[in-house]
Amino acid sequence: MQRLAGGTDIIVQVREGRRDIDALVDIKHIAEVNALSFDAANGLTIGAAVPCCLIYEHKAIARAYPGLIDAVSLIGGIQIQSRASLGGNLCNASPAADGIPVLIALEGVCDIAGLKGTRSVPVEQFCTAPGKTVLQRGEFLVRFRFPLPKKQSGAAYLRFIPRNEMDIAVVGAGVSVQLDAAKAKCTAARVALAAVAPTPLLVADAGAALIGTALDEASIAKAATLAQAAAKPLSDMRGDADYRRHLVGVLVKRALAVAIDRVK
Ligand SMILES: Cc1cc2nc3c(=O)[nH]c(=O)nc-3n(C[C@H](O)[C@H](O)[C@H](O)COP(=O)(O)OP(=O)(O)OC[C@H]3O[C@@H](n4cnc5c(N)ncnc54)[C@H](O)[C@@H]3O)c2cc1C
Repeated sequence: MQRLAGGTDIIVQVREGRRDIDALVDIKHIAEVNALSFDAANGLTIGAAVPCCLIYEHKAIARAYPGLIDAVSLIGGIQIQSRASLGGNLCNASPAADGIPVLIALEGVCDIAGLKGTRSVPVEQFCTAPGKTVLQRGEFLVRFRFPLPKKQSGAAYLRFIPRNEMDIAVVGAGVSVQLDAAKAKCTAARVALAAVAPTPLLVADAGAALIGTALDEASIAKAATLAQAAAKPLSDMRGDADYRRHLVGVLVKRALAVAIDRVK
């Protein structure tokens, strides 16, 4: 059984004969999966079926989470963004999904409901293989939860595609950084990648290498090198493995520069 959120993945897959399904359950009208809220007490909650356009059109969310807006505003074009959800992006479990790296960088948590109750899983543990997730039979994703943006923090998502829009990422990089009160030293950092492994990847040691540094050129270069080492890219018609590994270095450096600029 599959779920229909925006349908921008599943309908295409069924039409092309890539999925043989016995039932497609429309979840769009369940209140919880459509809830979108942001406040100082609870942080950000995004229902699994909320379309991308409602996220970037929400002024307070757009101001507080610009890294998230980088991702939701480049998934497909305007028509796709008015249907496509982050829940569908994650549950489809494409290694190249543009929504996932920044969900990981922002420490997103998935709330899952099933016959046996509810459970929560960090986004970085949700995808287990291409097209596969931790969801068990009878379970579905209800919402994402994110902590409030920390003081002096910034995030960014960048991808490389060979044309200007409407293409699958050859590499994607989502990052977040937090600086101390003087904005002199990094106190927390996360680096996540798309399209370079069977699942979206949190590169914990790349983030760790930035902590305690002044986010100078050398420490950023070290984080980029660690991200390149963690990447396990395949070669395909959109780019060979060496090219993708090179792009990981470039995009991690550039995404960090954008995130740092957003803090400063
Ligand atoms: C023209 C075009 C351009 C695109 N461009 C991009 C792009 O630039 N970047 C990108 O990352 N993707 C892109 N996509 C893919 C797609 O739009 C995204 O992955 C989108 O976020 C999927 O969301 P959806 O709501 O449409 O998912 P659906 O198609 O409704 O669902 C996708 C899958 O997730 C499952 N699912 C959905 N919701 C849940 C839930 N709550 N619980 C459990 N399972 C669930 C469904 O069963 C299905 O298997 C594009 C697609 C098209 C057609």
